Amino acid sequence: RIRVRFAPSPTGYLHIGGARTALFNWLFARKHNGVFILRIEDTDRERSTPDAIATILDGLRWLGLDWDEGPFYQSERLADHRALAERLLASGHAYKSYETKEELDAMRRAAEAAKTAFVFRGQVLTAAECARREADGVPYVVRFRVPRADGAVTFHDLVHGEQTKRYADIEDFALLRSDGSPLYILSNAADDIAEGVTHVIRGQDGLANTPKQLLIYRALGVAEPTFAHLPLILDGKRAKLSKRKHGAGATVQFYQERGFIPDAFLNAIALIGWSPGDDREILSREAMIAAFDFAQVSRTNGIFNLVPTDQPLPDPRQFTDPKALWMNAEYLKTMPLDQLLPMVRAQLEAAGLWKAELAEGDGHAWFARTVDVIRERFRTLVDFTTYGRAYFDDAFEFDPEAVKKNLRDARLLDWLPELADALEKVTDWTAETVEAALRDFAESKAAKAGLFINAARVALTGQSVGPSMFEVFALIGRERSCARLRAIRQ
Ligand code: GLU
Repeated sequence: RIRVRFAPSPTGYLHIGGARTALFNWLFARKHNGVFILRIEDTDRERSTPDAIATILDGLRWLGLDWDEGPFYQSERLADHRALAERLLASGHAYKSYETKEELDAMRRAAEAAKTAFVFRGQVLTAAECARREADGVPYVVRFRVPRADGAVTFHDLVHGEQTKRYADIEDFALLRSDGSPLYILSNAADDIAEGVTHVIRGQDGLANTPKQLLIYRALGVAEPTFAHLPLILDGKRAKLSKRKHGAGATVQFYQERGFIPDAFLNAIALIGWSPGDDREILSREAMIAAFDFAQVSRTNGIFNLVPTDQPLPDPRQFTDPKALWMNAEYLKTMPLDQLLPMVRAQLEAAGLWKAELAEGDGHAWFARTVDVIRERFRTLVDFTTYGRAYFDDAFEFDPEAVKKNLRDARLLDWLPELADALEKVTDWTAETVEAALRDFAESKAAKAGLFINAARVALTGQSVGPSMFEVFALIGRERSCARLRAIRQ
């Protein structure tokens, strides 16, 4: 049975690259009826605060990437990692290395001066020599003894194909520090062994560790996993995506807070470095699971077109990957209304715009109809409380551009209140009856209906664009519509 894992190191946020790694692991597990494991690599105790860990779990939950086992915590297993190093010592695959930092630096400098590559080989001492030093309390690190023979570590990466690294190019890497604590490279492999991981699917930055980790597997004589290294994620200018460079926009939380639909966001990040092999772009989770295949994972780096910034960015429109935004808008427009309504409700609640009457009966019917009409033009859930605020609250802002454009004609100051008087008399308030009354009114003023339609849009919604204006009248209702037309004079 296939077993994969997502193994984030808590940094305080869930990076988009991390989310994509988690997603590909999850897709692969679900496709093959495997097990998706979550392992928190929390050996950096300073960064691994409860909050930093919670952020990752929250992000995964929001995305619906449910794990079958874990979360396991790497920090709880350090003794097991040490035991593995002891095993390697006992079998002669590792040795105690007494070289000091100064000695290492000197070797490195000498290699530099000679313009040769520095590949460290420590002195492998006899047991008696080690015992003598130990008696004197001389510190040592435990290093893996890379085979001295000619040869290479060769493996098949599911994305990058055949990979080879000559032994001669692999230094004798450390497994345990002088205080006995395991190094990351060992802990990471040791946990994969303990968890029975069959496929290591991780970012390209893990590729440099793979030959070393394979040496560990082979020395221990345990089954080795298959590796798949995912391409990097770059911004539009080909710089690596990072929190430092791109600010919050590089984190999943940002999109969650700014009103992305989890499925849309997953869909968008799935397409960074992967495609279903045809021209489909909108893919449900099920469709992604069915289509997922490493043969379609690109070897070249993927692009998420973020603008670098150190400024706080309130609105993803200003900078986010246009395709992700487009995708979110597609989901908003086409997703089943009954799935969208609770999301909009949560958004309204958070903005203090939710009213209990919207939960049932006529109020609910109105809410559903309104969301269905206005979602047409929206791109994120936040739009319901910003651009869409006027539907849910009488206190809304006027877009100054819209005012300038559509209320320019000074006669409107008198005409809009008069229009309100006319509309007040409409019996049976519907889009059709309002339209008829408005057109009659325009004719009585020998003006174009468009003048009133555009002006009313600003008066009623604060915006210059939106759904069919008669539909808007119908949704906002007679009382509020007329009040807003009259308020123009104030
Ligand atoms: N903890 C590592 C990271 O966050 C995971 C590397 C791996 O998946 O093997 O990059």
